[in-house]
Amino acid sequence: MIIYDLDCAAGHQFEGWFNRSEDYLEQEQNGLLSCPVCGSRQVKKLPTASYINTHAKPPQKVPDTAAKAPSEKQLATWNALEKLHDYVDQHFKDVGADFPEEARKIHYGEAEARNIRGSATREEAKALIEEGVEAIPLPVRPYPKNKLN
Ligand SMILES: [Zn+2]
Repeated sequence: MIIYDLDCAAGHQFEGWFNRSEDYLEQEQNGLLSCPVCGSRQVKKLPTASYINTHAKPPQKVPDTAAKAPSEKQLATWNALEKLHDYVDQHFKDVGADFPEEARKIHYGEAEARNIRGSATREEAKALIEEGVEAIPLPVRPYPKNKLN
């Protein structure tokens, strides 16, 4: 499961949940992504700074795509995001700025296979993904709930 921070032409930010990064690319290329707030199809992925490299899946069940309305469903999504962050905090070793190097070592069998998290620039992440190294963007923690009102 991959979660992307997305935003639309009007600046609404929301999360998109995809089984694989290819699913995101396919939906983006076919214009299937739309903003749950205004319906805009001009949706793009936001740059994110945190990535995880995982061979384990987060435990919670989540929908494939973002909820249609910013409602209880979105709240549930945000709660799931909180849980995801808690899960990552507990189960992923933070390697900080060494993430690209460590992820590469794990990929090539030069380091013990384990779950790691850390930071990478967009260029570093792109290079990793092009090499076939798993680097999944980790969305920022959700907004405080009082911003919903
Ligand atoms: Zn929008």
